[in-house]
Amino acid sequence: MNGPLEGPGKDSGEALVTQPQTITESSHKRWRRRAHNGHNESDFRAAFHAAQLPMAIVDPNGRVLTANRALGALLGVEARRLTARPIAELAGLGLDGRVRSAYHEALQGRTDRMSCTRRLKHADGHTLWAEITVTPTSRGGEALLSIADISERRDLQERLRHLQMHDPVTRLPNRTLFFERLAGALADSATGRTGLCYIDLDGFKAVNDTLGHRIGDSLLDAVAQRLTQCAEAGGGTECGGHLVARLGGDEFALLVESSTGTEQLTQLAQSVLAALQRPFDLAGQRLSVSASIGVVERETAGTTATELMQAADTTLYWAKADGKARWTLFDPERNAHRMTRQALSSTLRRAVERGEFVLEYQPIVGFADDMLRGVEALVRWRHPQFGTLGPDRFIGLAEENGAIVPLGRWVLEESCRQARRWMRQHHGPPLYISVNVAVRQVWDSDLVQDVADILEETGLPAGLLQLELTESAVMGSAGRPLQALQALSEMGVRIAIDDFGTGYSNLAYLSRLPVRALKLDGTFVRGFRTARHQNPADETIVTALVQLAHKLGLTVTAECVEGPAQAERLRRIGCDTGQGWHYAKPMEADRIAEMLVRVAV
Ligand code: C2E
Ligand code: MG
Ligand code: MG
Repeated sequence: MNGPLEGPGKDSGEALVTQPQTITESSHKRWRRRAHNGHNESDFRAAFHAAQLPMAIVDPNGRVLTANRALGALLGVEARRLTARPIAELAGLGLDGRVRSAYHEALQGRTDRMSCTRRLKHADGHTLWAEITVTPTSRGGEALLSIADISERRDLQERLRHLQMHDPVTRLPNRTLFFERLAGALADSATGRTGLCYIDLDGFKAVNDTLGHRIGDSLLDAVAQRLTQCAEAGGGTECGGHLVARLGGDEFALLVESSTGTEQLTQLAQSVLAALQRPFDLAGQRLSVSASIGVVERETAGTTATELMQAADTTLYWAKADGKARWTLFDPERNAHRMTRQALSSTLRRAVERGEFVLEYQPIVGFADDMLRGVEALVRWRHPQFGTLGPDRFIGLAEENGAIVPLGRWVLEESCRQARRWMRQHHGPPLYISVNVAVRQVWDSDLVQDVADILEETGLPAGLLQLELTESAVMGSAGRPLQALQALSEMGVRIAIDDFGTGYSNLAYLSRLPVRALKLDGTFVRGFRTARHQNPADETIVTALVQLAHKLGLTVTAECVEGPAQAERLRRIGCDTGQGWHYAKPMEADRIAEMLVRVAV
């Protein structure tokens, strides 16, 4: 027989009562008998029946011994007709394992109380939400069951949840709901694929700023509608289909919960671009927008929501950087490069503390006599994971995040200590050491003080230290950098301009700074590599540069001297010193010491 209450438990054939049902009759009589036994009992009965709260007394097998009027009213049946009916049938408690055993425990008086929330069906067909509580009574074996109608509270909760999960401007699911669905999709389908279009409008801020927030909001709403249409046209259905969400500001996402492959996602992205290209007519204004879209598509297994979003975020950034108004597909290789950059950047400081850096030294040779005059210190990172890394991989990062300050200080100290060691080991004309200095070291640290301290500590004469700065670092320098250069120069330290010729090449300006040497960039020297492939213009320029530099009292070092013909030409032109593979590649300190021995002999 169908009870007035129905629930999933009944449909799934779950039976709460498993004991022989004959016992129930007698316990029912016993309850009636006991209820007549004293004043308290009848008081209790009267109160029970008059109570507003729908209640029933049930036996250990879950059969109703008696139900009050309020319960009858709640379910739309006469209270006495509930008697002797199994409560499971009555309440349709769709109980899963855990709740079910808790219910039995409570019925048998083994726990204090159990409660659960269930959807019940009234006799007239409407459903209601009920909170069902089972409390053992002091009479052994019987329990008090109460059913509170919590439909209103549930409705309110649901409305609140809807508000919390949706964006008021576009009425789309918001970030919270989006992440909930994404996490659910990734957890549920271990074999499928999931895809995501991460959409950001180009230039939306300008719309907001020039036309106001009202138009901005209308535009977002109109965009949301077009995205929804794209999702529907692209095969998105109500359940298990594409979710369109507003993640905040002018960012939207289109989630494809069971993707058929990359193609589906890129097609979807393409259709979004096309849909947004059509102008929007808003409050008498005709507006055009474009969007950038990051597309990610991958196997669901082993993917987390955070990973997927990070990938989408990176890909969106690429789409913007590649020129906007486009979609870009996630590229693992491009990402690996970015990850390495990130990994390197975040570990630089610790690497300095751990002593993971080493210096190599490249000879600087006099053109006139081929004698070793100095060396340039070049830093390398002995990375525990990535092997030895050249400065081009990390100096830029170190400048960005400020790690160049401790790293540069270490390079300076180590170089001076090494130069002083060579000086002690070998008599004869001492080598100067040339150290690269990044502009940020001048700004963010007390370079003058550091240099003074290091010279004093190591005992290296200031005249044997040369600092290399790039042209752009000293150009337009006023205030602090200029003062620093002057102070260093007064100390006796030589300032050289590195990679000269790649920047402004303003010699007249440089001559007014305390600069003593130029290092001609390799690109100049490359122009006259061999006798046959020489570029006369380059030679003319270099000749003029060297002459002018000499007139201004600057010495000139040529970088990247790779062959004897180049060396010969540079010597003729009058360059002072050269550095490059023709003489030697950068090498360890010990090998420089060996060269010094040979020279001395
Ligand atoms: P740089 O100061 O211009 O250093 C010269 C670069 O040219 C070195 O590259 C050197 O190995 C390379 N080189 C030398 N001879 C030749 C040659 O004949 N042909 C060619 N093609 N290349 C040659 P490296 O060691 O990779 O250094 C790259 C740059 O990193 C340096 O350019 C310098 O700007 C920077 N750097 C190196 N060490 C430091 C440092 O301790 N601090 C700072 N701030 N920058 C550094
Ligand atoms: Mg240099
Ligand atoms: Mg250079």
